[in-house]
Amino acid sequence: MKPHRSRADPELATAEALIRARAERLTVPRSAVLAALLTADAALTHHEVEAALRPRAPVDRVTVYRVLEWLVDRDLAHRIAGDDRTWRFRANPAPGGAPHAHFTCTGCGRTVCLDSVTLPRRVRVPEGFRPDALELTVRGRCARCH
Ligand SMILES: [Zn+2]
Ligand SMILES: [Zn+2]
Repeated sequence: MKPHRSRADPELATAEALIRARAERLTVPRSAVLAALLTADAALTHHEVEAALRPRAPVDRVTVYRVLEWLVDRDLAHRIAGDDRTWRFRANPAPGGAPHAHFTCTGCGRTVCLDSVTLPRRVRVPEGFRPDALELTVRGRCARCH
């Protein structure tokens, strides 16, 4: 099935272009989920992505999970571990974007990228240790929770 293109939805057009640029197969769930991440002004939980898609292009829970993993694998999105043990997802502004810090609101959980605070790609660890992830989270209050 070929996804239909809507001129009224620039994020959907951007999402389709990003997926095509990687020579990846375009499907309705892939472009819809990426468009939802591009539209959001903060990182979205899996549940929030599902809710954002429901009115226009309902995508079932398992598919949303799979598509989010797919987007992260393809470097089209990244995931952020929250204090509530919930992953949040954010579209990557540019492919291969630098790892960066995040800000998480302790009031509402709202999480945004701090693109100006970049993280080293490698860190020196003790002999025999193997690092899997490097994260830096600034905690505080968002503009809505002052
Ligand atoms: Zn907040
Ligand atoms: Zn980020």
